[in-house]
Amino acid sequence: MADSKSDVPSDLNIPDNYVQHTLKTSKPLPPFSWKNFRRDLNWLNVTILCVTPVIGVIGACFTPLQWKTFVFAVIYYYFTGLGITAGYHRLWAHRSYNASLPLQYFLAVAGAGAVEGSIKWWSRGHRAHHRYTDTDLDPYNAHKGFFYSHIGWMLMKPRRKPGVADVSDLSKNPVVRWQHKWYLPMILIVSFVIPTVIPWYFWNDARGGYIYAGVLRLCFVHHSTFCVNSLAHWLGETPFDDKHTPRDHFATALVTIGEGYHNFHHQFPMDYRNAIRWYQYDPTKWFIWTMQKVGLASHLKVFPENEVRKGQLTMELKKLKETQEKLAWPSDSNDLPVISWESFQEQAKKRPLILISGFIHDVSSFVDEHPGGPHLIIKMIGKDATTAFFGGVYDHSNAAHNLLAMKRVGVLHGGMPHGIDDKVIPPSQRLKIARYNELSSPYNSSTAYSDGEGILG
Ligand SMILES: [Zn+2]
Ligand SMILES: [Zn+2]
Repeated sequence: MADSKSDVPSDLNIPDNYVQHTLKTSKPLPPFSWKNFRRDLNWLNVTILCVTPVIGVIGACFTPLQWKTFVFAVIYYYFTGLGITAGYHRLWAHRSYNASLPLQYFLAVAGAGAVEGSIKWWSRGHRAHHRYTDTDLDPYNAHKGFFYSHIGWMLMKPRRKPGVADVSDLSKNPVVRWQHKWYLPMILIVSFVIPTVIPWYFWNDARGGYIYAGVLRLCFVHHSTFCVNSLAHWLGETPFDDKHTPRDHFATALVTIGEGYHNFHHQFPMDYRNAIRWYQYDPTKWFIWTMQKVGLASHLKVFPENEVRKGQLTMELKKLKETQEKLAWPSDSNDLPVISWESFQEQAKKRPLILISGFIHDVSSFVDEHPGGPHLIIKMIGKDATTAFFGGVYDHSNAAHNLLAMKRVGVLHGGMPHGIDDKVIPPSQRLKIARYNELSSPYNSSTAYSDGEGILG
C-alpha cells in the first residue's frame, strides 16, 4: 500500500462526502458466482483455511493425545490468541494502551503464530471495519451474512476495496515493520516449528505437538478470532447503542478471549477493556492490566464512566419508552373540551361528574366500586372535590390518581385553580419519557406544565 508508506495520513484529503461518493462512483466487482469462482477465489487463503482443518482432523484420528501435549496446546492457543486480541487488536489497531518494546516484540511474535496476516494489514482492515461498520466499505460487513463476515470475506477476492483507513502510525513503528519484513518465516516458526519442537524436546511427542498444538490449535485460534466479526455482530444484547450490528454476549466472550463485549467495544474502541464489570470474562483485559502492573504496559485508556453510563441510560430509556407506548394514557387538557361552570352544573344533573384539579371526570363506571363507599362520591357530584381527594377526606393513592385521570371528560373554563403542582399530573406521568422533539421547548424550564419532571428521550 503506497499510501501508508508515507508519513502523511492516507485519509488526510478525503472529501467530506467520501462514503457516499465512493459507494456511488466506484463499481464493485460482479457478485461471486460459480462462473467466476476460479478467478475470484483467494486460493492462498482457501488453502490455509481449508487444508489446515483437514490435516488437523485426519492427523488427530491417527495421533494419540497426551495430556501434556493437550495442556501445552491450550496454553499455546492463549499465547497466539492474545497476540491477536491484546496485540493486533487493542494495541496496534486501536492504540488503547502503550506497550514497552519487549512486550511489543512478544505480541508481534505471538500474533504471527495465529496466521492472520501482518499487524499492518490486519489493523488497516480493522480500522476500516470500525470506521465504516455495516457498510460496503467495511471489509467484513455483517449485513452480508454470518458466513461472509466470519470467513467468506477472506475466501474470495473483495468485491470492493475497504474504505480508506490510516495506518501511517504503524508504518513508522519499528516492531510492526520488523514483523512485516519477516512475516513468512515467522509464521512457519511460531505456528508450526515451536509447537512441534517443545513437546518433542521435553516429552518426546513431536507428532502430537505438530497436530494438536500446531495445526488444530491454529484452527481454533482462527475461528475464535473470526467470531469477533461474525458472532459478535449477531448474538446478544445492545446495552450501549443499537445503531449498528455489534452485540454483547458472554458466549462470544468465552470463545474470543474476551472480545465478546463488542457492543461496548464499537462504542468505546479506544478503551483497553471490552468488558467493564469485574465478573465479565475478558482475559485480554486482565493480561493488559497485569502487564501494566509488571511495568511492561502504560497509559491504559479508559473511557469516562459518565459517558459510558449515558449510553446505557439511553438504551434503558428506549426500552422503557416502548413499554410506555404500549399503555393507555389519560387525555391531555389540549384534547378535552373546555366546559363552563354553568354547563358543568347542568351536565352533572344527567351523569355523575366531579371536578378535581381543574379536570371534569365522569365517574359513572366507578361509583359502586369506590372503596370508600358510593356515598362519598355521590355527595361530590357537580362539586370541586380536589381538597377532599388529596387528603381532605382521604389522601388517595397514586394508583387512585392514575385511575381518576383516565375518567377525564373535560376541562373547566378558568380552571386549574391549583396551578402547576403535583395534583394536575397523575404520578404515572411525572417521569414521562419524551423525545426532545415532542416537547414544545425542551430547554425552557417554564414549560413545565406537561413535562414537569419529564425526561428527554
Ligand atoms: Zn466489529
Ligand atoms: Zn476493534
